[in-house]
Amino acid sequence: MAFRPLLVALTLLLGPTPQDDEQPQHPRCKPCDTTGLVACEDRIHKGVDLGLEGNLLYCSHVADCEACGGTGRVDCERCERPDAAAWLERARECRAGAKARHAELEAEVERALPGGESEHFRLIWDLESMKVGRKRLDRHELLHLFAERMEAVHARYREVLKVAETEIPDGSAMAVWWLPADHADAARRWCGGSATMGVKRMGPKPFFSVCGNRSHFADDTDLHRYLVHNAAHLILSNHTPQQWMGQFKGGAWYDEGLASWLETDLAGGAQTWCFQEQDARGMWGGGKWRVALRKLVAEDTAPSVSQVLQRDVNALEMVEQATAFSLIDYLISRDAAKLPALGRQLKKKVAVRDALQESYGLNPLSLEQAWRSWVLETYPKR
Ligand SMILES: [Zn+2]
Ligand SMILES: [Zn+2]
Ligand SMILES: [Zn+2]
Repeated sequence: MAFRPLLVALTLLLGPTPQDDEQPQHPRCKPCDTTGLVACEDRIHKGVDLGLEGNLLYCSHVADCEACGGTGRVDCERCERPDAAAWLERARECRAGAKARHAELEAEVERALPGGESEHFRLIWDLESMKVGRKRLDRHELLHLFAERMEAVHARYREVLKVAETEIPDGSAMAVWWLPADHADAARRWCGGSATMGVKRMGPKPFFSVCGNRSHFADDTDLHRYLVHNAAHLILSNHTPQQWMGQFKGGAWYDEGLASWLETDLAGGAQTWCFQEQDARGMWGGGKWRVALRKLVAEDTAPSVSQVLQRDVNALEMVEQATAFSLIDYLISRDAAKLPALGRQLKKKVAVRDALQESYGLNPLSLEQAWRSWVLETYPKR
C-alpha cells in the first residue's frame, strides 16, 4: 500500500510529501506508487489502517513499532528516492517531540492514553467505537476523524477572520472520555474545574475535557457539533491577547456567537449551550437558527441588541445566544477581517460600545438597525 497525498496539514511542518514532487527522474515504481514510501509491514500493525496516519504527527495506535519508528511508513526498497528518506527523517523528528508531550499526560495519570497530536491539537480519544454516517468506526479511526475535524475548526477560524498562524501561539488539548470518572479526573487535573458536561481551561495552552458517551450525546452529529463549538472557544481564547473574553461583561455574546457560528458552518447546525444549566441541551428554533431569527425580527420579537451585548455569560438565554450568533454572522458578512480587532478590544475590557465604534464604526443602535434589515433581506423564510 502506498500513501496517497493526504498529508494536507503536515506539509506545513514537514515540507511537501514526496508524491507532490513529480520530477521525471524518478522512474515509475508500482509498489510505492513512485512515492518512495510504503506502509510498514511489521506485525505490530496487524488490523490497523496505516493509510490514516497522514493527519497526526504522533498516533499512540502505531507508536510502538521499531521498524517504522511509529510513523507507519518505511522506505520503498524497489526504488531510489532520497527525498522520501529525508521526509521520513523529518517526520520522525517532529514525532519525537509530539510523543514526549503525549507521554507527559500519560505520566501524570500513570497509564497509557489513546490519542496523539495533530498540527494544532493534542488529542485524547477514548471512545471505543461509534457510528459515523452508516459506518461504525473504531477508536483509531475516530481519533483521526477527530483530528481532521478539529484542524478544520482552526483552519476555518483563520481563513474567515484572516488570522495569521502566529496570532494563535499555542496548540489546544482536547480529551473525549468514555467514563465519567476519567473526565472528572482530567477536568480537575488539567482544566482546573469540574462539571458533568465539558470543562475548559481558556487562555494560554487551553485544555478541554468531556465525557463523550451516549448518556450525553445521542450520536456522532451531536458530539461533532459540541466539539467544534468548544474547539472554537479554545482557539478564540488563545488568539492573542491570550484571554477568555467570555468572563468579561460585553464579551460573552462574541465568545458564544462566534463558537455557534463555527458550529453552524462546520457541523451543519448549532445546538451547544455552554453556560445554561448543566445538561441543558438540544435544539432551538427547530435547528434552523437563521429561519427562526428571521421570523423573530419580522414579528419584532427578537431580543434587544444592546441587551444581548451586555449579557453576562451565565445569564445568556437560548434566544440571546442565537441572536449573538446572528450578530457575528452579520459582522462577518460586513467585514470579517475587522472581527479580530473587535475581539481584541473586548479582551482588554474596552466597553462594547466603544469597541464596536472603533472597529466597525457602529453603536449598539446602528448595529441593531443594520442587523435587522440584513436579516430580513438575507435569511431564508423557511
Ligand atoms: Zn493512527
Ligand atoms: Zn511499523
Ligand atoms: Zn459556548
